[in-house]
Amino acid sequence: MSDTYLRLVNSGVTAKIAKQLGLPRPSPLQRYTPGQPLVDGPVLVLGTGKDTDAIAGLLAAPTADFGWDLDVHRHATPDTRWAALVLVLSEVVHPDDLTAPVLEAASVLRSLKSGARVVTISRPAGDDDAPAMSAARQGVDGFLRSLAKELRGGSTGNGVVVADGVPVTAPAAVGALRFFLSTRSAFVDGQLLAVDSETGSLPDDWDRPLAGRVAVVTGAARGIGAAIVDVLARDGATVVAVDVPAAGEQLAAVANRVRGTALQVDVTAEDAGRRILDHALARHGRLDIVVHNAGITRDKLLANMKPDQWGSVLAVNIAAQLRINETLLTSGDFTDAPRIVSLASTSGIAGNRGQTNYATSKGGVIGMVRATAPLLAPFGGTANAVAPGFIETEMTARIPALTRQVARRLNSLQQGGQPVDVAETVAFLASPQAGGIVGRVLRVCGQNMVGQ
Ligand code: NAD
Repeated sequence: MSDTYLRLVNSGVTAKIAKQLGLPRPSPLQRYTPGQPLVDGPVLVLGTGKDTDAIAGLLAAPTADFGWDLDVHRHATPDTRWAALVLVLSEVVHPDDLTAPVLEAASVLRSLKSGARVVTISRPAGDDDAPAMSAARQGVDGFLRSLAKELRGGSTGNGVVVADGVPVTAPAAVGALRFFLSTRSAFVDGQLLAVDSETGSLPDDWDRPLAGRVAVVTGAARGIGAAIVDVLARDGATVVAVDVPAAGEQLAAVANRVRGTALQVDVTAEDAGRRILDHALARHGRLDIVVHNAGITRDKLLANMKPDQWGSVLAVNIAAQLRINETLLTSGDFTDAPRIVSLASTSGIAGNRGQTNYATSKGGVIGMVRATAPLLAPFGGTANAVAPGFIETEMTARIPALTRQVARRLNSLQQGGQPVDVAETVAFLASPQAGGIVGRVLRVCGQNMVGQ
């Protein structure tokens, strides 16, 4: 699915015309390829206190000492083109504490490289905090979300919000920092991701964090599901690709290209969970990761909604996931730091006209992962959701042309995402380092203007 406008405003004469007319000029996003440097240029780490020292130390330390070997600076220097800016704001106790690091950050914003990354590290504002501390902490959220809207050139701004008592160097905190710094998060923008615990472990190889893990992806024959299969396999997982029998040929092609296996199952079948588990155990000896991606739309205004339009969307998008999870959780075979990642949607957060059925199911996914996460916690497991915004797939290609053009531009990156962007986020949440992120929703929407 191609975005002709994006191509035109970035090439030759049409680029000049777009500039003269003051039209939105989205930048092509840089995406991840294995072997690419984590950050391509100098990194400025701002903040004071031991947390800042710990983060700067990790980023600067050589790989042999388990560091990330980046070119780290602790103060702005003139004539430097910054590839990333990390603001460690976890020790602020009053809004005034934000002033120095924020204004120093401001001084380098015009010197950011295209596709630069800005990442804040902060603590959640709690009801028991002193009012000034709560204000400072909550202030970081407003700051980050606004800064992300000001960045240009395909740059993004995201935040890691680390629970009190959890070190900023906990696996999930540094895992999230690394994800936001890398091109894996190209279409994730303006998001604040909570890290809840110290659970999780850093991978031996950051390029293959899923080595030795077995994953199932539903709705894998095309679109986002097929991209998830590719990315999980690239990251080292063995993948079982699941889709309906009618999509069997495409499904086999997807499974074959990653040397995985295909399983034709309608996820709404009563025994879908059992068949998925039996297949994974019989063919691959274990099951560690389940990605609930299969989903359908049957858009209608509620006044015109037929019972089967309501029922089929809820059956595929939420009831099937609940039933499959129930099977997995009671099987005793899904207990080695398991991961459930479910596809929600920004429609389930912000609502969307004509999608009461779909938004109910996707809101349902968000509630489901929140309540499922504690059931997996005793095994070091997690359940989380990914909420895509506008992604270029066959599903969105069916949207009328004008509505589609507008929908693409309604985010800070002024373009639709690609299936791979959702897949990268799913792979991160499925990774061992993400063990401390539980029951959360991460949006992959380019900071869509609608919703939270
Ligand atoms: P798609 O329609 O291109 O692919 C969905 C796949 O799911 C198809 O291969 C289909 O055969 C399969 N499927 C449908 N019903 C099934 C069933 N009962 N059992 C097994 N497989 C079934 O959709 P997509 O755009 O790739 O979306 C994937 C997921 O992402 C969905 O959950 C969707 O709601 C969500 N999502 C997509 C977007 C977007 O912009 N494309 C935005 C938000 C959320």
